[in-house]
Amino acid sequence: MTFRTRFAPSPTGPLHLGHAYSALYGHRLAEAKNGLWLLRIDDLDHSRSKPEWTQKIFDDLHWLGLAWPKPVRFQSQETDTYQTALDALARAGLIYPCCCNRADIAQAAAAPQEGVPEFGPDGRIYPGTCRHRCLSQARPGDALRLDMRKAVKALQKPVTYEEFGEQHSKRITLKAEALIAQVGDVVLRRKDQGAAYHLAVVIDDDAQNITDVVRGADLNAATQIHVVLQQLLNIPTPRYHHHSLIRDETGKRLAKRSDSKALSSLRKAGHSAQDITEHLFSAP
Ligand code: GLU
Repeated sequence: MTFRTRFAPSPTGPLHLGHAYSALYGHRLAEAKNGLWLLRIDDLDHSRSKPEWTQKIFDDLHWLGLAWPKPVRFQSQETDTYQTALDALARAGLIYPCCCNRADIAQAAAAPQEGVPEFGPDGRIYPGTCRHRCLSQARPGDALRLDMRKAVKALQKPVTYEEFGEQHSKRITLKAEALIAQVGDVVLRRKDQGAAYHLAVVIDDDAQNITDVVRGADLNAATQIHVVLQQLLNIPTPRYHHHSLIRDETGKRLAKRSDSKALSSLRKAGHSAQDITEHLFSAP
């Protein structure tokens, strides 16, 4: 099967050195394997996504010397596709409506206990306040959550995926108890945004026939959610590679606010795309 990977930035701010690393890294892997590198615009969050940032993403990536097949996939145009997946999960009885806000969740969460994580890949682990509600009781403005207990019961086979490295690969097996305790009932539809990232990314990777997801280690923990959803939706699981993150001088991960590391600022300061590539890929 042809190697296909993708770069999926959110158009909510400038691309910085960390994005450049991720894009170039995936592109290099695709090139080495005679495969394809696709671009997807993760513009689900319509309050923060802006078309001008999308244009700047295109400009920055072109400046880095990257090209990608057209048309580009935009998440904002796939609302119906995500709804079809939500409907399938609803028919299987795996989702429930939730009206809790952050403050409700923080208040209802049990006092921290030793050895029991408070936070999962999606923030504070949901204490289950609305888990008893059924979909027929959904009210406008409710979010929809995956019932992880029911989900792990519904899974036909052990949840595993392959994490591939530069030297070797390993197969990771996810345990039902860990998914319940350490991930919990994640949101699949947000009240203000429609489909949530975890649902959209699974549908998009499948629609774009992605064989190998290459992305930063900050999304490592989220992968278990994606693999569970793929199995529930009968979607093939791609291989995953989570690369290391580019950090600033103080060791902090670069954020969209790190303007000094924005590609456009570096370009204005006279750096060439070649300088940046050499800096990113030179041995530490
Ligand atoms: N849109 C996500 C981000 O900018 C990346 C999602 C992914 O690669 O799965 O962090």
